[in-house]
Amino acid sequence: MKEYDAIIIGTGQAGPSLAKRLAASGMNVAIIERKLFGGTCVNTGCTPTKALVASAYAARMVSRAAEFGVMVDSPARVDMKRVKARMEAIVSPSTKGVERSLRNAERCTVYHDHARFVSPREVAVGKEVLSAGRIFINVGGRALVPDMPGLDQVDYLTNSSLLRSDVLPRHLIIVGGSYIGLEFAQIYRRFGSDVTVIEMSPRLVSREDEDVSASVHDILQAEGINIRLNAKCLTVARRGNDITANVECTEGAPEVVGSHLLLAVGRRPNTDDLGLEKASVTTDDKGFIKVDDQLRTNVPGIWALGDCNGKGAFTHTSWNDFEIVAANLLDKDERRASDRIPAYGLYIDPPLGRVGLSEAQVRKSGRPALIATLAMEDVGRAFEKSETQGFMKVLVDQETKQILGAAILGTGGDEVIHCLLELIYARAPYTVMQRAVHIHPTVSEFLPTMLGELRPLS
Ligand SMILES: Cc1cc2nc3c(=O)[nH]c(=O)nc-3n(C[C@H](O)[C@H](O)[C@H](O)COP(=O)(O)OP(=O)(O)OC[C@H]3O[C@@H](n4cnc5c(N)ncnc54)[C@H](O)[C@@H]3O)c2cc1C
Repeated sequence: MKEYDAIIIGTGQAGPSLAKRLAASGMNVAIIERKLFGGTCVNTGCTPTKALVASAYAARMVSRAAEFGVMVDSPARVDMKRVKARMEAIVSPSTKGVERSLRNAERCTVYHDHARFVSPREVAVGKEVLSAGRIFINVGGRALVPDMPGLDQVDYLTNSSLLRSDVLPRHLIIVGGSYIGLEFAQIYRRFGSDVTVIEMSPRLVSREDEDVSASVHDILQAEGINIRLNAKCLTVARRGNDITANVECTEGAPEVVGSHLLLAVGRRPNTDDLGLEKASVTTDDKGFIKVDDQLRTNVPGIWALGDCNGKGAFTHTSWNDFEIVAANLLDKDERRASDRIPAYGLYIDPPLGRVGLSEAQVRKSGRPALIATLAMEDVGRAFEKSETQGFMKVLVDQETKQILGAAILGTGGDEVIHCLLELIYARAPYTVMQRAVHIHPTVSEFLPTMLGELRPLS
């Protein structure tokens, strides 16, 4: 039995930083990773997908080059081996960097194996048992494989296996029309695959407002992505070398035939093989570990951070979990998860930046509110770049004049949204922004313009 002051399970976005902070404060820390250092974001999530988004953008701009007066004389070709090599050259230093920084940290011991609780204070790693008074779980999640008829007869891909491949699918069928599925859809369409997205809801990204879903739909459809909605009774089957998806839709062909199948229907937490029952840590019915506002589980001395606690599904929320735990334990600063303002991006091109409440949520709340929208066609910078798809929308509390939420679907939307995020966090009225002189020509300079056109949300 080896004794430590703290054990951290998983090297996602929270674990490594927490390990280094705790070790720097004088604690002896063990950190355990069963697979790839850096976890999902670095290896099979944000970093590789955004590297591919960049390659796909390059392909798109080459295909549009003549619009900009740039003549490309021979047909452009996407070399998937080079695309993948570029992606790996971006991912690999991050993976290695996380491992190196942990191994080099004083008072920090790294274990590379699967961890499993054997009691509330003990964790088995390979043949060893480690014990500590404080245990932090940062085990993340993996692709959810649905209970879909026929799936056992076909080879299917998840985000992880698709990212390992350097083959360009002839026809990629994607089950799931939400954030992960849509990013892959546009990436592979731009590389040259035929792509069909199959979604069981009546619209894409169904957690967003209807106007956002409709605009995302138009953007993807305009690039030749085939979209099938209301696919409630989806089954799949093998036909020769192909995969058929039987789609029960109200319209369109009943069957889609493709060469590859990607599942992008959600994520499940890596808590089923962690021995949580030995530690009496409770989860909800989907396996997410139940935590309080300071990310403490029901068992004193055990915390859960990142995707596995169900309070966030993003790199920045997991990182914020680290900040919350470190602040409470080391800084006497009672930070809480409920202080966090929901914010995220959807990295299709143009991207969607989102913060705070949606229009539907504001309507449901019944509070008196104001709304303004602006088409990206009316934004000078977007026009100059010939990237005019999308729109912006902002919602404001009528009484306090504070911003309640916003969506920016358009060029630079993932960056521009931060102007609004800061105002919300500062609880400042929107009129503050109208006094700040924004830089021309930018997308951000049109935020005060849009705020000048607020009208009651009827
Ligand atoms: C395709 C894709 C794209 C994404 N894009 C974005 C994006 O653009 N922006 C964004 O904010 N988020 C994005 N995300 C989400 C983001 O990757 C996660 O929210 C983020 O990685 C936070 O994860 P985490 O810290 O909870 O743990 P993870 O990063 O999932 O890491 C958990 C680690 O724990 C290890 N582990 C699990 N069980 C054990 C065990 N028993 N013993 C030892 N080790 C264990 C795992 O091997 C893993 O390394 C994306 C996700 C996917 C799948």
